[in-house]
Formats: sequence, C-alpha cells, structure tokens
Amino acid sequence: MEYMPNFQLHRPETPEEAIKLLNEQPEAKLVAGGTDMIVNVRRGIEQPKNLIDLSSINQLKEITESNDGLRIGAGVTLNKVATTALIKKGYPAVAEAASSVAGGTHQQYGTLGGNLCLDTRCLFYNQSEWWRQSNDYCMKERGDVCHVAPGGKRCFAAFSGDVAPAMLVYTAEVELLSSRGIRRIPLAEMYQNDGMNHLTLAPDELVSAVHLPRTLNGTPSRYEKVRIRGSIDFPLAGAAVRLKMNCGKVEDISIALTGVNPFPQIIKGTDEYIGKALNDEGLDILRDSVRKQAKPMKTTTVAPWYRRRVIGALARKLIKELAA
Ligand SMILES: Cc1cc2nc3c(=O)[nH]c(=O)nc-3n(C[C@H](O)[C@H](O)[C@H](O)COP(=O)(O)OP(=O)(O)OC[C@H]3O[C@@H](n4cnc5c(N)ncnc54)[C@H](O)[C@@H]3O)c2cc1C
Ligand code: SF4
Repeated sequence: MEYMPNFQLHRPETPEEAIKLLNEQPEAKLVAGGTDMIVNVRRGIEQPKNLIDLSSINQLKEITESNDGLRIGAGVTLNKVATTALIKKGYPAVAEAASSVAGGTHQQYGTLGGNLCLDTRCLFYNQSEWWRQSNDYCMKERGDVCHVAPGGKRCFAAFSGDVAPAMLVYTAEVELLSSRGIRRIPLAEMYQNDGMNHLTLAPDELVSAVHLPRTLNGTPSRYEKVRIRGSIDFPLAGAAVRLKMNCGKVEDISIALTGVNPFPQIIKGTDEYIGKALNDEGLDILRDSVRKQAKPMKTTTVAPWYRRRVIGALARKLIKELAA
C-alpha cells in the first residue's frame, strides 16, 4: 500500500449538495463507507483530486415501507441490511448476502450503494502500484494489454459484490439521482458486460435507493458463496436463488450469480421450469445451464474451470434446499 495521496474531501449533507459537487467537479469520485474506494486510492488505482463523501447524508440512510414494497437508502450499512427484520423476513437472500460481505467491521461501514457500485476485480488489477507497474499495468488501468486474454480488446474483471445477485432475484429497482431529477430503472440495467466500465450510470448520477417489490415479499430465497478465506473474502463464485413451489411444482424461480462475469448475472431460461416438479434430472439441467452461462476467466488465483463447476453445484444445492 502507498501512503494516502493528497485530495480534497467534500462532505455534503444532502443528496442535492452531492449532485451539485458532482457537477462542479466532473472528475470527482464518490465514497460512501470507503471500504473499497480507500483501498483503491492507497493502491494508486484511483487517483482522485476530489472525493465526495456521502456518509453525512442522513436521507440516504433510511429504510421505508410502502404499498409498493421496501425502499432501502443507498447509505444504509450492510450490517443494517443484514439485521433489519423487514429484510430478513421478506427478502432473506438479501440479508444473507449482506451478512456474507467481507468481515463484521466492513459491514459496519460498507453501504448498500457502495456494494452495488463496487468496481470489478482482477488478479492483475487489485494489486499495489509497484506490482502493476512491473507488469506494465493492464488495459483497465494505464496499460495497453489484458494479461487475462492477451490480444483481446475486452476486460473480463469480475463483478464480485455479494448483494446484487440477491437483489436481482427479487427484481429490485434502483433510484438514480442527478441534476435532471430521479430516474428509476431495474437494477439489472445498471450493469453491462464490460469489466472496464460495468456500470451504466451517467457520470453525474448517484444511486439514492433500492426498491424491493411488495409482490415478492416473503418468497423463500437463499444466497451462498464460495471464497478462499471463510472469515473474510470476496466471492470466487456466488449464487442467489428465489424459489416458490406449489403442490410440489415450481411456481416461480429466479437465479442470479456473482463473481463469474463482469456483471451480476440473471440466469436465462428458468421460466421453462414453471409448472414442473424438480426431480434430480431437472436439478441437473438447471445446474448445467448455470455452468454454461457463467463465464469465469483467470481473474483470480483459483482456476476458471473450478469456479464454473462450483457455481453450478452451488446453485443446484440452493434450489434443492429451497424446494424441500
Ligand atoms: C478485505 C476486504 C474484503 C472484502 N470482501 C468483500 C466481500 O466478500 N464481498 C463484497 O461484496 N465486498 C467485499 N469487499 C468490498 C467492500 O467492503 C464492500 O463491497 C462494501 O459494501 C463497499 O461499500 P462502501 O460503502 O464501503 O463502498 P465505497 O468503498 O465507499 O465505494 C465503492 C464504490 O461505489 C461507489 N459508490 C459508493 N456509493 C455510491 C452511490 N450511492 N452511488 C454511486 N456510486 C457509489 C464509489 O464511488 C466506489 O466506486 C471487501 C473489501 C475488503 C477491503
Ligand atoms: S481482465 Fe485484463 S484488462 Fe481487465 S483487469 Fe484483468 S488484466 Fe486488466
């Protein structure tokens, strides 16, 4: 780690002040809990002249319930997401995912917004300055080549946030704030398949809240991940599953992944299972479909083939548990 470089820290107290600052300083970066951003600043990956700290904006820290469902402010900490009864009971995978992020201390500071907007990760990117420099950097940051897929033009750095897949299986929507007002889009549309630019947010937008629909409140769900260190680590592969059975047959099913693509991914084709019983053969087909759609690359120390195998097994296990 390098010493902390010089930068100007801005501490707005309202979302509007934060937006004004973003417009005045287009190169400024947002920081919420700082548990990822500050690490990146100290590694020289991020070199902001201006940092806009969202942690004093109380309006971003509210959880409210309405006829529509649950609105969770982007500044709500992961610890609160993991322990709030309304979330634990209504949207269990979301609470489970939040409680699996890093370690307890990170969850006290890390926020929902920061987790959903987490930068993508790669073995050749999340390194110290001297390490990256001695490898001539890489396409994602100051370099010309991709060390994962040399000769290619794309970056495969993996999205490794835990909470996004759990939100995706509940068809969450995000509220985006800018000087043009608020727009609300499906969370899935906030991501794209590009490790260098995985968020579709405009440069002057921030995430103000996430909405979970009332219609899916109480549907059973699970989130689980595989990581190197059980106590504190990013997912090598993580799966969220939401499953509703009716008289032994699938009424509704959704599966989403993290850690195996540059974006959190909803598995396509699950609707085919609606109305069917989930026997071993059906579980195997779903497992294979998850394996096919996951595209892990050599972005961690663990081999892609293992992460592909494990993500299928993980999803199958969760579906089986929920079906029982
Ligand atoms: C040792 C270690 C282990 C970790 N393990 C995990 C893990 O297992 N799983 C996991 O998911 N994460 C992990 N993390 C990463 C991080 O702790 C969490 O993802 C955390 O939730 C990030 O939230 P934050 O508020 O601290 O984000 P910050 O670090 O403040 O910001 C992260 C990114 O989000 C942007 N951002 C923040 N808020 C907003 C907003 N409202 N609108 C738009 N952009 C915004 C920032 O500009 C930045 O790019 C780990 C970090 C460390 C250091
Ligand atoms: S996938 Fe390639 S371009 Fe992207 S961070 Fe890794 S080495 Fe760099």
